[in-house]
Amino acid sequence: PVSFHDDAPGEVGIMPEADCIFCKIVKGDIPCARIYETEHVLAFLDVAPVAPGHTLVIPKAHYANLFDLPEEEGRRLFAALAPVGRAIMAATGASGINVQMNNYESAGQVVFHAHLHLIPRRAGDGLAL
Ligand code: C5P
Repeated sequence: PVSFHDDAPGEVGIMPEADCIFCKIVKGDIPCARIYETEHVLAFLDVAPVAPGHTLVIPKAHYANLFDLPEEEGRRLFAALAPVGRAIMAATGASGINVQMNNYESAGQVVFHAHLHLIPRRAGDGLAL
């Protein structure tokens, strides 16, 4: 189903599912560096990483943001965080990791398909998230 996400007053964020870039990534129509995948969840490297190993964890089904996400899908996303995060830390040598979710344009959301950022951190890396 096509869903429009106009539920935040004053927010622009209309993204029909058919035009959703992450739905295209899920389908394989747009390439990505997949690092983890289940029936319902996909993790891939962010194309514009703020740190090496910056990864996005997304539901394969289209939900605009946190507030559209069914509880079960939230559980699946959360369940992926520790194994994916552990692998990223092992691969990059990071000593810490941030989990970030931007919801609505004013919070920095630019892709209106719910996603969690996993951002590897190092002491003194100077990142301001
Ligand atoms: O949370 P926000 O919506 O700002 O994040 C979208 C993220 O999706 C950005 O970090 C951007 O680099 C990433 N992106 C990507 N591959 C694309 C399009 C966007 O990794 N094809």
